Parts: sequence; structure tokens; C-alpha cells
Amino acid sequence: MTVQPYTASNDIAHFIDGKLVPSSGTVRQPVFNPALGSVARHVALGSTGDVDAAVASAKAASAKWADTPPIRRARVMNKFLELMNEHTDTLAAMITAEHGKVFSDAQGEVARGIDIIEFACGIPQLLKGDFTDQVSTGLDNWTMRQPLGVVAGITPFNFPVMVPCWMFPVAIAAGNCFILKPSERDPSASLFMAELLIQAGLPKGVFNVVQGDKSVVDALLRHPDISAVSFVGSTPIAHYVHEQCSHYGKRVQALGGAKNHMVVMPDADLSQAADALIGAGYGSAGERCMAISVAVLVGDVADKLVPMLAERIKKLKISNGMDSDAEMGPVVTRQALERIEGYVGIGVEEGATLVADGRGHKVKDHENGFFTGATLFDHVTSTMRIYKEEIFGPVLSCVRAKDFAEAVQLINDHEFGNGVSCYTRDGNVAREFSRRILVGMVGINVPIPVPMAWHGFGGWKRSLFGDTHAYGEEGVRFYTRQKSIMQRWPESTMNGPEFAMPTAK
Ligand code: NAD
Repeated sequence: MTVQPYTASNDIAHFIDGKLVPSSGTVRQPVFNPALGSVARHVALGSTGDVDAAVASAKAASAKWADTPPIRRARVMNKFLELMNEHTDTLAAMITAEHGKVFSDAQGEVARGIDIIEFACGIPQLLKGDFTDQVSTGLDNWTMRQPLGVVAGITPFNFPVMVPCWMFPVAIAAGNCFILKPSERDPSASLFMAELLIQAGLPKGVFNVVQGDKSVVDALLRHPDISAVSFVGSTPIAHYVHEQCSHYGKRVQALGGAKNHMVVMPDADLSQAADALIGAGYGSAGERCMAISVAVLVGDVADKLVPMLAERIKKLKISNGMDSDAEMGPVVTRQALERIEGYVGIGVEEGATLVADGRGHKVKDHENGFFTGATLFDHVTSTMRIYKEEIFGPVLSCVRAKDFAEAVQLINDHEFGNGVSCYTRDGNVAREFSRRILVGMVGINVPIPVPMAWHGFGGWKRSLFGDTHAYGEEGVRFYTRQKSIMQRWPESTMNGPEFAMPTAK
């Protein structure tokens, strides 16, 4: 491994009007290195004053940036794309240092964020309008999409680079100014990307970062000069953000939590399915919104597959994410560790069969790190809390279903609908599954079906509040509004005012 872990010890504050600025408030919160369990740096928890300053800077930059030809905005994105590619490993090391996920996974996160920047480079094509010649004699009608002005993004801890990249490249390329409120658990990458945007030639004020917690979020939601909010995080907060934005008359997309199922049919390749479940259940310590947390084992699959999973869990390499052979790192905080291990206790009390118990896992030389091992439950039922609630850790629950119909019903009855997967060799089963399942993102023999940049990302049910998915063409629609223009250049005679509804003549 050539990349050194990220070691900057400075305090993390805001990026406003093209430069790093200290907070106007005095409250700071520790940022941990989860592998060591020690405080690495502090993040400023911003104030309403910081939000006001960021919005004022964005508003001042807004008219000029919106007027900048899309191809010139795309050129800035192209330069930013180049810089992000150049600095992928630095960003990945930052992610591992503050989130804990293994370095190769962090590199993958940055790469998936870069995909969206690449998509945003095509903004001139994406902003093309529609034109109809001669809707009535001498009259043309066209539609175009214009930016909203100042927009905000509020992001979760689990993808400190990728999830902001779902938002700001598309928003900025479409002509908006953007204010990012990153997670206070892993805030460093946001400032690094802000600096790269300036290096890429983005005018000051077009991209701002305000660090903080609920009070900064509330100040953003209430601010009269913010037109739209993109949120990604847990369901209760997503619901709250959606409600608040609706109250204040803002456009909103709020992506929430998940409980993703993977159905394994009796005809599936069980070795492939077992590998997929281990990777998707325990990769990133289960802290992915697309992690698989429930295996729905159909017919006689459970008796064969559960022992295969147990064998693989024994071989899982859990250590500091910067170790080159690490497969799973720590979870993000001590509170997360306690919550996850608390759920394991709940599962035992509820009567599920504990096949592998990850509680109390220790890693050599990292005794204070936030490590928990991989936990596997069998005989989980749909009434148990470990089935219904999002645990967001390396806990995989196996539910037994008698047939395909029961498996589909189980998933459709769940309150979340983010991602889902089905392992089968039967094309008709795969087709029926894709059509009938009430979930936004579906994988057929693909465990984590995160859509590519131009397809858009979003769940159904209580996994998304709002109408549009993130990025892709839905993202472009979210960050722009349609204007319809009717134009006539009359000849010298007119017929006087018309009082009936105009129709084609
Ligand atoms: P979180 O909801 O705690 O925090 C998300 C953001 O909201 C952070 O910026 C945080 O500072 C802010 N926030 C926290 N509490 C708040 C409050 N009371 N009022 C206003 N703002 C508040 O989520 P997290 O723990 O950072 O991330 C994990 C969650 O995010 C999981 O539920 C996961 O499923 C979800 N997630 C969903 C997706 C998706 O695409 N659907 C993607 C990634 C993560």
C-alpha cells in the first residue's frame, strides 16, 4: 500500500465564498478515527450566521453562474473530473480515516462519485429543450429548463464523497449555486472537494460547505433564499426534511433508510449466492444503504446455504481499513457499535437462532477501535424487531420462505423499498420478480444494484420522500424548472383582443 493514512490534525470548519473560514460559533465536535477509537480532529458545528454567510455568497454568485453558457460550466466540471481522478487515493484515505471502511472500498466510493461528475460534463446535451414549430399559424412554442438558484444538500456519514457527488455536480452544471452540509462524523472530504472545485476554475460562492448538525440543517430548511433541498440519511430525518421543505415551499428529494432483501431461489448457484451475501451483508461493515441485511431463503435453500455462510464468516478478515488485506473495518462510532450489538441481543431475546455472534470482536493493536464482528441470524421472522428495523451494521438475518410468492409478499409488505436482489437461474422468475417487487432498485444475480450515473438512484416507500430520484436525468429535472415560451412575430395586422381560449388556427 503506497497511500499513507490521512493524518491532518487541524480543525475542520467551513468553505464559504471560495475560501476556508472558521466558524462564527464556538461549538466543536470530535471526529474519530474509528479503527483506533481515538479523536483525530474536531469539526465546527456551524451557526445560523454561517448558513446566512454561505447563502449570501451563493446568492451573489447565482445570476452570473446561471448565465454562464452550459458548455463553459461543463468545462469546469471536466477540469474537476481530472482533479478528482488525480486525487482519488488521497480522498479514499480520508474516507478510511474518518469512516473506517477499507481502503479499496473507499477507492470504489470515490470512483462511483466520479461517475456522476462525468455525467454532469454532458450537461449541454441534458439541458436541450423541446421546440415545436407552428403550433398555430405564425406561432412557435418551446420549452427550456432553467436553474433554481441556490440549492442545498444534506448528506450522511456512510458515503462522504459519493453521496455529495450525487448532488452538487449535477446541480452546479445545471447552473445552480450549492451549499453542502456534510455529515459531522466524516467532514474532511467535503473541504478537499471544495478546494478542487476552486482549482478547476469554479467561481467563488458557487459551492459552499457549512459543517454542523441539526441547527445548521434547520437553518438551511428555513432559509428563504434556498429553493431546493436534497437530503440523504435515515428515514425519520428524511421524513422531517420533506415535511419542513414542503412547509416552507421548497422543492425536496429526501432519501431515507433501508432494509434490503436478497431472495435466493432453489435453482440459484448457491456458492455465488453465498459470496454475494457475505460481500453485500458485511462489506463496509453493513453501513451501506444498499447493504443486504435480509436473506430470504426459498424452499430448502436455508439448510444448505446457512452453513456455507457460517464457514465464510469464520474467514472474514476484520482489521484497520488501511491494512491491505482488510475485508471489513470498524463501524463509525462507539454509539453505532453499541446500537448494533444491542440489536444482536434483541434478536437473541426474540428467539432468532444466532449462528455467528460478532459481539465483542477485538482487533490486535486496535483494542479501542469500534470493531464488531459479522453476525448471522437464522429463523428470523417478519414480526421481529431485527427484521423490521434498520440496524445499519454487519448483521445478516435469514428468513425462510416456502415459495417465490411468499418471498415477494414479505418484501412488498416491508416499510422500506430501497434495493433488492434475486438469485435465480430461471429467466421467468427473474422477470416476474423485477415486475412485481415494490422496490426502487432491483438486482438479478447482482447483490448491490446501485444504478449507473445516467440511470438515477432512488428507493420506494419510506426509503424516499419526494418525486425524483437522485442524479441521472431525474437529477437534472430536480435542479431545473421548465419554462414554456410561445412566440409570435406578427405581421402588421392584428384582429384585436381574443376572449376565447386560444386554439390552433
Ligand atoms: P442521519 O439521518 O443521522 O444523518 C444524515 C444527515 O442529517 C447528517 O448530515 C446529519 O447531520 C443530519 N441530521 C442528523 N440528525 C438530524 C436531525 N435531528 N435534524 C436534522 N438533521 C439531522 O444518517 P446517518 O447516520 O448519517 O447515515 C445513515 C443513514 O442514512 C442510514 O439510515 C442509511 O440507510 C441512510 N442512507 C440512505 C441512502 C439512500 O440513498 N437511501 C444512502 C446513504 C445512507
